[in-house]
Amino acid sequence: MINFTQLVLASHNAGKLKELQAMLGESVQLRSIGEFSSVEPEETGLSFVENAILKARNAARISGLPALADDSGLAVDFLGGAPGIYSARYADGKGDAANNAKLLEALKDVPEAERGAQFVCVLALVRHADDPLPFLCEGLWHGRILPAASGEHGFGYDPLFWVPERDCSSAELSPSDKNLISHRARAMDLLRQRLGLK
Ligand code: IMP
Repeated sequence: MINFTQLVLASHNAGKLKELQAMLGESVQLRSIGEFSSVEPEETGLSFVENAILKARNAARISGLPALADDSGLAVDFLGGAPGIYSARYADGKGDAANNAKLLEALKDVPEAERGAQFVCVLALVRHADDPLPFLCEGLWHGRILPAASGEHGFGYDPLFWVPERDCSSAELSPSDKNLISHRARAMDLLRQRLGLK
Protein backbone atom coordinates (compact mmCIF):
# COMPACT_ATOMS: atom_id res chain seq x y z
CA MET A 1 0.00 0.00 0.00
CA ILE A 2 1.23 3.48 -0.89
CA ASN A 3 -0.01 6.78 0.52
CA PHE A 4 -0.94 9.59 -1.82
CA THR A 5 -2.55 12.84 -0.87
CA GLN A 6 -2.60 14.17 -4.42
CA LEU A 7 -2.79 12.59 -7.84
CA VAL A 8 -2.84 14.33 -11.17
CA LEU A 9 -5.53 12.98 -13.48
CA ALA A 10 -4.42 12.66 -17.11
CA SER A 11 -7.64 14.15 -18.49
CA HIS A 12 -8.86 17.60 -19.46
CA ASN A 13 -12.46 16.52 -18.95
CA ALA A 14 -13.89 18.28 -15.85
CA GLY A 15 -16.85 15.87 -15.72
CA LYS A 16 -14.56 12.87 -15.59
CA LEU A 17 -12.47 14.44 -12.84
CA LYS A 18 -15.60 15.06 -10.77
CA GLU A 19 -16.91 11.54 -11.31
CA LEU A 20 -13.59 9.86 -10.47
CA GLN A 21 -13.04 12.13 -7.46
CA ALA A 22 -16.46 11.12 -6.09
CA MET A 23 -15.59 7.43 -6.57
CA LEU A 24 -12.14 7.82 -5.02
CA GLY A 25 -13.30 9.60 -1.88
CA GLU A 26 -11.85 12.62 -0.11
CA SER A 27 -8.55 11.33 1.23
CA VAL A 28 -6.87 11.72 -2.17
CA GLN A 29 -7.19 14.98 -4.11
CA LEU A 30 -7.35 14.65 -7.89
CA ARG A 31 -5.85 17.54 -9.84
CA SER A 32 -6.37 18.10 -13.53
CA ILE A 33 -3.47 17.82 -15.98
CA GLY A 34 -4.96 21.00 -17.43
CA GLU A 35 -3.33 22.90 -14.53
CA PHE A 36 0.05 21.95 -16.02
CA SER A 37 -0.35 21.64 -19.78
CA SER A 38 -2.94 21.89 -22.53
CA VAL A 39 -1.14 19.43 -24.81
CA GLU A 40 -2.55 15.90 -24.99
CA PRO A 41 -0.22 13.00 -25.85
CA GLU A 42 -0.85 10.93 -28.96
CA GLU A 43 -2.49 7.64 -27.98
CA THR A 44 -0.24 5.31 -29.96
CA GLY A 45 -0.93 2.06 -28.03
CA LEU A 46 -2.89 -0.87 -29.41
CA SER A 47 -4.65 -1.65 -26.14
CA PHE A 48 -6.47 0.14 -23.33
CA VAL A 49 -3.61 -0.80 -20.99
CA GLU A 50 -0.91 0.66 -23.22
CA ASN A 51 -2.79 3.91 -23.73
CA ALA A 52 -3.61 4.30 -20.04
CA ILE A 53 0.04 3.80 -19.08
CA LEU A 54 1.22 6.18 -21.81
CA LYS A 55 -1.17 8.92 -20.60
CA ALA A 56 -0.27 8.38 -16.93
CA ARG A 57 3.49 8.57 -17.62
CA ASN A 58 3.02 11.74 -19.65
CA ALA A 59 0.97 13.39 -16.87
CA ALA A 60 3.55 12.42 -14.23
CA ARG A 61 6.37 13.78 -16.39
CA ILE A 62 4.62 17.11 -16.95
CA SER A 63 3.34 17.63 -13.39
CA GLY A 64 6.03 16.00 -11.25
CA LEU A 65 3.19 14.31 -9.32
CA PRO A 66 2.00 10.71 -9.16
CA ALA A 67 -0.53 10.33 -11.94
CA LEU A 68 -3.72 8.46 -12.72
CA ALA A 69 -5.06 7.88 -16.24
CA ASP A 70 -8.06 6.02 -17.54
CA ASP A 71 -8.74 4.59 -20.94
CA SER A 72 -12.15 3.24 -21.76
CA GLY A 73 -14.35 2.08 -24.59
CA LEU A 74 -16.64 -0.60 -25.91
CA ALA A 75 -15.38 -4.03 -27.08
CA VAL A 76 -17.85 -6.05 -29.15
CA ASP A 77 -17.20 -9.82 -29.30
CA PHE A 78 -18.52 -10.32 -32.86
CA LEU A 79 -16.18 -7.56 -34.08
CA GLY A 80 -13.06 -9.01 -32.46
CA GLY A 81 -13.11 -6.34 -29.74
CA ALA A 82 -13.79 -3.34 -32.02
CA PRO A 83 -14.37 -0.45 -31.73
CA GLY A 84 -12.14 -0.88 -28.64
CA ILE A 85 -9.54 1.84 -28.19
CA TYR A 86 -11.05 3.60 -31.22
CA SER A 87 -14.52 3.85 -29.61
CA ALA A 88 -14.62 7.66 -29.51
CA ARG A 89 -13.65 7.98 -33.19
CA TYR A 90 -15.24 4.80 -34.64
CA ALA A 91 -17.10 6.84 -37.28
CA ASP A 92 -14.09 9.07 -38.04
CA GLY A 93 -14.85 11.71 -35.43
CA LYS A 94 -18.44 12.36 -36.53
CA GLY A 95 -19.74 11.93 -32.98
CA ASP A 96 -21.84 9.62 -30.84
CA ALA A 97 -24.86 9.32 -33.18
CA ALA A 98 -22.65 8.36 -36.14
CA ASN A 99 -20.68 5.89 -33.97
CA ASN A 100 -23.91 4.23 -32.88
CA ALA A 101 -25.27 4.08 -36.43
CA LYS A 102 -22.04 2.48 -37.65
CA LEU A 103 -22.16 -0.11 -34.87
CA LEU A 104 -25.79 -1.00 -35.63
CA GLU A 105 -24.91 -1.41 -39.29
CA ALA A 106 -21.90 -3.62 -38.46
CA LEU A 107 -24.18 -5.89 -36.39
CA LYS A 108 -27.11 -5.90 -38.81
CA ASP A 109 -28.55 -9.43 -39.02
CA VAL A 110 -26.30 -10.67 -36.18
CA PRO A 111 -28.48 -12.73 -33.81
CA GLU A 112 -28.96 -11.76 -30.15
CA ALA A 113 -26.79 -14.62 -28.84
CA GLU A 114 -23.77 -13.27 -30.77
CA ARG A 115 -24.14 -9.61 -29.75
CA GLY A 116 -22.14 -9.86 -26.53
CA ALA A 117 -20.02 -6.83 -25.64
CA GLN A 118 -18.28 -5.19 -22.73
CA PHE A 119 -17.53 -1.70 -21.68
CA VAL A 120 -13.90 -1.60 -20.58
CA CYS A 121 -12.11 0.79 -18.25
CA VAL A 122 -8.43 0.54 -17.46
CA LEU A 123 -6.96 2.78 -14.79
CA ALA A 124 -3.19 3.16 -14.65
CA LEU A 125 -1.45 4.80 -11.72
CA VAL A 126 2.24 5.63 -11.83
CA ARG A 127 4.21 6.94 -8.87
CA HIS A 128 6.55 8.79 -11.25
CA ALA A 129 7.07 9.07 -15.00
CA ASP A 130 9.46 6.11 -15.26
CA ASP A 131 7.69 3.89 -12.74
CA PRO A 132 8.53 0.26 -13.70
CA LEU A 133 5.50 -1.07 -11.81
CA PRO A 134 2.33 0.86 -12.69
CA PHE A 135 -0.81 -0.09 -10.77
CA LEU A 136 -3.32 -1.42 -13.32
CA CYS A 137 -7.00 -1.83 -12.51
CA GLU A 138 -9.42 -3.17 -15.10
CA GLY A 139 -13.19 -2.90 -14.94
CA LEU A 140 -15.34 -4.90 -17.36
CA TRP A 141 -19.09 -4.43 -17.67
CA HIS A 142 -20.65 -7.26 -19.67
CA GLY A 143 -23.79 -6.76 -21.72
CA ARG A 144 -25.18 -7.01 -25.22
CA ILE A 145 -25.69 -4.66 -28.16
CA LEU A 146 -29.38 -3.91 -28.69
CA PRO A 147 -30.91 -3.87 -32.20
CA ALA A 148 -31.97 -0.22 -31.72
CA ALA A 149 -31.15 2.71 -29.45
CA SER A 150 -33.13 3.16 -26.24
CA GLY A 151 -32.89 5.70 -23.38
CA GLU A 152 -31.88 9.32 -22.92
CA HIS A 153 -29.22 9.30 -20.17
CA GLY A 154 -25.48 8.88 -20.43
CA PHE A 155 -23.36 9.36 -23.51
CA GLY A 156 -21.52 7.39 -26.20
CA TYR A 157 -22.81 3.87 -26.72
CA ASP A 158 -25.09 3.87 -23.64
CA PRO A 159 -28.35 3.72 -25.68
CA LEU A 160 -27.17 0.54 -27.46
CA PHE A 161 -25.82 -1.30 -24.41
CA TRP A 162 -28.23 -3.70 -22.72
CA VAL A 163 -27.45 -4.19 -19.02
CA PRO A 164 -28.40 -7.72 -17.92
CA GLU A 165 -28.48 -6.95 -14.18
CA ARG A 166 -31.11 -4.22 -14.72
CA ASP A 167 -32.81 -5.50 -17.90
CA CYS A 168 -32.63 -2.11 -19.58
CA SER A 169 -30.16 -0.11 -21.64
CA SER A 170 -27.33 1.76 -19.99
CA ALA A 171 -28.95 5.01 -21.15
CA GLU A 172 -32.10 4.07 -19.20
CA LEU A 173 -30.19 3.91 -15.92
CA SER A 174 -30.06 6.96 -13.67
CA PRO A 175 -26.53 8.43 -13.61
CA SER A 176 -26.14 7.46 -9.95
CA ASP A 177 -27.21 3.87 -10.62
CA LYS A 178 -24.84 3.63 -13.59
CA ASN A 179 -21.99 4.93 -11.41
CA LEU A 180 -22.54 2.05 -8.98
CA ILE A 181 -22.18 -0.77 -11.53
CA SER A 182 -20.28 0.60 -14.53
CA HIS A 183 -16.89 -0.42 -15.86
CA ARG A 184 -15.41 2.78 -14.34
CA ALA A 185 -16.95 1.99 -10.93
CA ARG A 186 -15.51 -1.53 -11.06
CA ALA A 187 -12.01 -0.34 -11.97
CA MET A 188 -12.17 2.38 -9.31
CA ASP A 189 -13.23 -0.17 -6.67
CA LEU A 190 -10.07 -2.13 -7.40
CA LEU A 191 -7.95 1.02 -7.26
CA ARG A 192 -9.42 1.98 -3.88
CA GLN A 193 -8.54 -1.49 -2.59
CA ARG A 194 -4.99 -1.22 -3.97
CA LEU A 195 -4.57 2.15 -2.27
CA GLY A 196 -5.99 0.79 0.98
CA LEU A 197 -8.90 3.22 0.86
CA LYS A 198 -11.45 0.57 1.84
P1 IMP B 1 -13.11 7.93 -22.73
O1 IMP B 1 -11.92 7.05 -22.52
O2 IMP B 1 -13.90 8.13 -21.46
O3 IMP B 1 -12.82 9.16 -23.48
O4 IMP B 1 -14.12 7.09 -23.63
C1 IMP B 1 -13.79 6.69 -24.93
C2 IMP B 1 -15.06 6.36 -25.68
O5 IMP B 1 -15.56 5.11 -25.26
C3 IMP B 1 -16.19 7.37 -25.46
O6 IMP B 1 -16.10 8.43 -26.35
C4 IMP B 1 -17.39 6.50 -25.73
O7 IMP B 1 -17.61 6.39 -27.12
C5 IMP B 1 -16.97 5.13 -25.20
N1 IMP B 1 -17.37 4.99 -23.78
C6 IMP B 1 -16.54 4.89 -22.71
N2 IMP B 1 -17.26 4.78 -21.57
C7 IMP B 1 -18.56 4.81 -21.94
C8 IMP B 1 -19.77 4.78 -21.20
O8 IMP B 1 -19.81 4.71 -19.96
N3 IMP B 1 -20.90 4.85 -21.91
C9 IMP B 1 -20.91 4.95 -23.27
N4 IMP B 1 -19.82 5.02 -24.01
C10 IMP B 1 -18.63 4.94 -23.35
